[in-house]
Amino acid sequence: MISGDTLFGRLLGRGSAQAPGTRIHPAQPCAGLQLQLDNQGRVLHIGGTLRQQLPQPLSSDPLPLLRDLLCAHSALVIEGAPLHWQRHSLDLDFHTAAGPTLHTRGAVEAHGDGWLLRVLDIGDLLGDRQAAQYRQQNHQLTSQMSEQLRVCSLTRLPQVFNEHLRSLAQRWHIPCVALALLDQQDQGWLIYSQYAAHDAPALWQTGQHLGTCLDSINSNTPLSLDMAQGHSEHPRLHSVFGNTDGFLVPYRDGQGVAAWLLCGFYSGQQLTSERDWLNLTAALAGPLLSRLREQRHHQQLERLEALQGLLGTGWWELLPASTDIQLAPQLVRSLNLEDGPSRLPQAAWLNLIHTADRQELNSRLQDLQTLGKPLLTSVRLQRSDASGLPIWYRVQGQVLGVGDNRRWVGFMLDISDIKNQQLQAAAAHARLDNLIASSPAVIYVQRYVNGALHPAFYSDSLLPVLGWTLAEATHDSLLAWVHPDDRDIYFERTRQLLREGSVRSRYRVRDKQGDYHWLLDEAKLLRDDLGLPVEAVGLWLDVTEATLAAQRVKDSEERYRILVEDSPAMICRYRPDLTLTFGNTPLANYMECLPEQLPGMNLSHWLSEEQRLVFVQRISQLSPEFPVSTAEISLQLPGREHAWWVWSDRGVFDEHGQLQEIQAVGRDNTEVRRSQQQLTQSAKMATLGEMATGLAHEINQPLNVMRLAIVNILKRLGNGDVQVDYLTEKLQRIDAQVQRAARVVDHMRVFGRRSEVEQQPFDPAQALEGTLALLAEGMRGKGIELRIAPACGPVQVKGYADQLEQVLINLLVNARDALLGTRENDRDFQPWISVHHEHDSRHVRIWVEDNAGGIDSRLLERIFEPFFTTKPIGVGTGLGLSVSYGIVENMGGRLSVANGEDGARFCVELPVVES
Ligand code: ADP
Repeated sequence: MISGDTLFGRLLGRGSAQAPGTRIHPAQPCAGLQLQLDNQGRVLHIGGTLRQQLPQPLSSDPLPLLRDLLCAHSALVIEGAPLHWQRHSLDLDFHTAAGPTLHTRGAVEAHGDGWLLRVLDIGDLLGDRQAAQYRQQNHQLTSQMSEQLRVCSLTRLPQVFNEHLRSLAQRWHIPCVALALLDQQDQGWLIYSQYAAHDAPALWQTGQHLGTCLDSINSNTPLSLDMAQGHSEHPRLHSVFGNTDGFLVPYRDGQGVAAWLLCGFYSGQQLTSERDWLNLTAALAGPLLSRLREQRHHQQLERLEALQGLLGTGWWELLPASTDIQLAPQLVRSLNLEDGPSRLPQAAWLNLIHTADRQELNSRLQDLQTLGKPLLTSVRLQRSDASGLPIWYRVQGQVLGVGDNRRWVGFMLDISDIKNQQLQAAAAHARLDNLIASSPAVIYVQRYVNGALHPAFYSDSLLPVLGWTLAEATHDSLLAWVHPDDRDIYFERTRQLLREGSVRSRYRVRDKQGDYHWLLDEAKLLRDDLGLPVEAVGLWLDVTEATLAAQRVKDSEERYRILVEDSPAMICRYRPDLTLTFGNTPLANYMECLPEQLPGMNLSHWLSEEQRLVFVQRISQLSPEFPVSTAEISLQLPGREHAWWVWSDRGVFDEHGQLQEIQAVGRDNTEVRRSQQQLTQSAKMATLGEMATGLAHEINQPLNVMRLAIVNILKRLGNGDVQVDYLTEKLQRIDAQVQRAARVVDHMRVFGRRSEVEQQPFDPAQALEGTLALLAEGMRGKGIELRIAPACGPVQVKGYADQLEQVLINLLVNARDALLGTRENDRDFQPWISVHHEHDSRHVRIWVEDNAGGIDSRLLERIFEPFFTTKPIGVGTGLGLSVSYGIVENMGGRLSVANGEDGARFCVELPVVES
């Protein structure tokens, strides 16, 4: 580099320069270049110190033109001939042998008949100017960058920065460039932005963490990393640059190095000055960092505002030299002062506070201002919230600064939720306390001490429940209170609690009066972080009442069970579909099975279809109002005789009145039934005996007729006067009489038979007919008139025809006896018996009346008693009417008697059945 003066001197030809016009002798080389030219601008000779740099040798035939030696743009400068170039300063760039252009400046002057061009090397002069220009441009660029970074929007900031990074890389041909910033969160270094030329491998990624390797370099100047030296000075940077050349420029702010400009595959050769690099980096990083700080600040402010809004909180400040207070905008909003100013008189602010708290707050504010005493209190607002609950605020304040710079700053925080919850919790707590104290439950806490549980707390209910106080309830006394028989249970309870973490047991504990209470104990073990037991929390529930009641129920159930099992009666329960759910031993014995086999069996299995229908119909008539029904049922047990049971059912109903189950008690009535039947049978036999006379007559009559016919036939045969017609007529008469006798005998046989087990429908006229067939002849023989009314249409009753016949025979025979008795006293007496019957839709009535004078009214109610008779011993049995009564009743009817005008009047009333 040469100074301006030297250049100027050279241009003026001072120093070693020769005076113009003198022929330059080749032996005396001058500084620069001297070129002798002819009028056409052809180079005749070249001299001067710079001659060596020009390409050698120049051809001499033809002579080279000056422009051939020049670079293309210089050739344009010298259009025309040397004559035109004189008196102009010429900047000419020559080709050199080595390659770089030779920058020269000079002028042409006449020299003899030709011209002499003198030029000096001005390469260094141009270099300086270029550098100045370059610096100027750089400065412009950097300030432009700074400016743009400063003014662009925060959202565009990363993009603008990246564009600058790119133009920087392109301008200085840096293959990879990035800016690393200190990460705010973890204090390591972070690539904020990076650019890599399209043909360069990307060394870094935006957002990439570089760790702390850049911390160690505390440098004020750029660092150049030479790959050839393996970054030996800064081995930790290997992780940032790998094996490439690197160039790092720091940016320092008040706190030290805040950013690094990282250049990869590059060693800083383009910008000459370190200062330039530092300026450039500062121009980029400075505004960026301040914008980022601004952004952080902004975000923080936003967060703070959002937080204040959410919490219903905000700052306040008492304004000095006034009685005003300044409130944060959020606070103005949450205090419902929307339209109001954020600065208001203290009195207006205090007016928002509930009168109950206002004075206290005011006094504390004064303490803060005069004594500097920190303020902390909770106050209610004058207004309440939508549901009428008070709005609570916590007000806190303090003094900042000293002397005249003192400020009083604080905040208000909406604590309604907490406060109201606190109040509710306190109320709930009080209710719970009250509840526990008045319930038969004791809450306790037992502390774990060396494997044992020691009482630590009992709820107040201990006293009302057991009469003990907490002071009395020690570890040892508790054990003493446990019933001696239950102590093992108590020990096991503690062991299980410690082992499994929870337990539920029941034992007796003595109260202060000495009475034992059954306590249901439910406890849970609480453990610490290491799983070691800390304490047990439990509940004692006094279940004495329930336990004793359960015991009583159990005892009573047991008694009933024994009663049911030991009862001779058959007891069972069955569902409405007749399926047994339970049956006791007697029932099982009867059914020849085990009691456990009974459930599931169906009662209908032992009933005839007809009996089953009657049974089901009877059960269906049970109702919650009339839940009981009794009947005699007949069972068909396979391989056995019919059984008769007196069966009593009680329906069990649900809350809707629906029949759920039937409980039944049964008694075997077969024996009674059988003796009744036998009684009936003997009564029947007695009746038959009674009728023996009548019967003899009945049978004698046809025998007499037959005998007479036979005698007559024999007489005719003896006379030899026998016509066929006569004989036929006699034999037909005999045949008719035989049939008559056979009918009587047949009927006797039927009558003598035992009644069918099942009742059958029949027409009562049939029984009357049978009765008359037996008795009519005998009656007439005794001179008794029978007045029989004709039957009035067919009708059906249910029962046994032979039994009804027996009843009618009894009535007729009794009437006959009474009539004959009367006639004994009165020879002229005209005895009659009237039999007539009538029926409506529901009943059939058969009347048997006589004219024997009736029954002594004192005896009327006794005549149906068994064995009651007024007849002499051996004549009357006293069974006739009582058996008849039973028969009619068994058919669902009624036998009654009254005295009529002439004598007794018996009535047999029977229910009509659908045929
Ligand atoms: P018995 O005929 O064997 O005495 P009953 O039971 O048939 O037994 O009759 C009881 C009594 O009722 C009779 O002894 C008689 O005194 C009285 N009695 C029955 N029927 C009549 C009647 N039609 N008129 C008067 N008394 C009668």
